[in-house]
Amino acid sequence: MDLETDILVIGGGMAGLVAGITAAQAGSDTIVVRKGQGATADSSGAMDIAGYLPGGETPFISPIEGFAAFSSLLPFHPYTTLGHTESGEISIGRIVDTVRESVEWLKQNLDGTPASLVGTIDSNIGGLSIIGTWKPTCLLQSTMHTDRLANEDEVLLFAGISGMPSFNPSAAAKSFIDLVMDSGIGPRRVVHILIDGLSVSKQTNLSGMEVARFIETDDGMAEFTKVLKKQVDKIDATLVALPPIMGVKNPLSVKEYIERETGVEVFELISFPPSVPGFRLLRSLETALKSAGGKLMVGYDASSFVKDKSNIMTITLDGPRRTIGVKPKSVILATGKFIGGGISGDGEGLEEQLFDLPVVDSERISVNEIRPQKMTKIVSVQSDGHTLFECGLGFDSRFRPTDNRGKTYATNLYAAGSILCGYNYHVEKSGLGVALATGRAVGNYATESTKEVSS
Ligand SMILES: Cc1cc2nc3c(=O)[nH]c(=O)nc-3n(C[C@H](O)[C@H](O)[C@H](O)COP(=O)(O)OP(=O)(O)OC[C@H]3O[C@@H](n4cnc5c(N)ncnc54)[C@H](O)[C@@H]3O)c2cc1C
Repeated sequence: MDLETDILVIGGGMAGLVAGITAAQAGSDTIVVRKGQGATADSSGAMDIAGYLPGGETPFISPIEGFAAFSSLLPFHPYTTLGHTESGEISIGRIVDTVRESVEWLKQNLDGTPASLVGTIDSNIGGLSIIGTWKPTCLLQSTMHTDRLANEDEVLLFAGISGMPSFNPSAAAKSFIDLVMDSGIGPRRVVHILIDGLSVSKQTNLSGMEVARFIETDDGMAEFTKVLKKQVDKIDATLVALPPIMGVKNPLSVKEYIERETGVEVFELISFPPSVPGFRLLRSLETALKSAGGKLMVGYDASSFVKDKSNIMTITLDGPRRTIGVKPKSVILATGKFIGGGISGDGEGLEEQLFDLPVVDSERISVNEIRPQKMTKIVSVQSDGHTLFECGLGFDSRFRPTDNRGKTYATNLYAAGSILCGYNYHVEKSGLGVALATGRAVGNYATESTKEVSS
């Protein structure tokens, strides 16, 4: 065997990295492998924890309200599993305490990184999107947060960048004005501009990432800020909404510089993929893993395994130049769903890709007979979402995947994040939150059992 380790985490998105950091901080020898980037890098970087009940139209005031609803109505939801007590009851208090601990731990680990976070599970907050609409979420990256949007004294400026088509400031301003008119509160004036004449704008079809990389250079930051300041002064703007472009490596310094030079607060809007804040989140978690002493192997595809009666014995990783065999004490499967590649569908149905574990829906009914293309025929955008998003692995009370008889598949195999069944992040607005809470839980479970085996 090429490598031996206490814990092998397969998948380097939110769930896998959180599990890996947790295990490494607890002193376990930890390796995280990922073949690609997955959904975490594509997310907006704003962390949803519990936004809506599927089918509901009014957002939860707080994730805590969401946990109470999920645990009474959705017995197989991953948050509900976090509330299981030794006596078999579900304790909402336990869910709240567990998720609160995960959130505070994450905030601490991301403090001072490009993805530092603002918010708590005591309330959901409204983030403003690049199309000028509200998105209820729980934690925003510090550069995306402002609490001045409801303030009547503000003059809000939506500033786009010429050559960057993914943000249309005029359309954003228009829908924001409609929002303000509906709610009756908001800035006294809403304006929009397109910043032109930047050296980067000579290119067309600029991505947010290209603009972010330009703005975090000394020259780019000075050039951008000079043009923005002229417009701010002309309009008498007091608050500026930008697409998420305040740099990849040090967005807080970029924000600070722009605010100092223009004299007004600037903040980033929540965007669609590909997203600079999603990328910042991924990179910041990777840095935290390395600081905790964990090892990250990028470009490795876990392709096969050996299992004895009750344990996973070895995993084979196909790498860029060679194939490696790993002998772990515990394995954490955090390979994501359709984007990450943990679950895939074809004309034959849905399949978990590595262990060939059964895929079930939110009621734990096998979806082997489901033909994805058949389901997509009847899909429409509905508030209760699409069944495909609820499908995933069944799991026991310690998030160990179950086999087709509903029994724990292997004593030393755990699963976390979007590969789990029973929740629909799309409509619930719970994606990164479930990945965080389950990643933290399995990082702890795997560490405990590894230590038991060693002692
Ligand atoms: C477009 C989009 C936007 C979203 N926006 C938001 C949002 O704004 N807020 C929010 O809270 N949630 C959002 N979500 C949901 C959220 O991003 C996901 O629920 C969350 O990122 C899932 O994390 P994960 O770690 O489970 O999976 P992923 O992030 O998908 O990670 C899976 C990892 O497994 C790796 N992998 C897969 N197979 C193998 C293998 N065989 N060997 C090695 N590695 C493997 C992949 O390369 C990847 O690194 C969004 C999702 C999408 C798709």
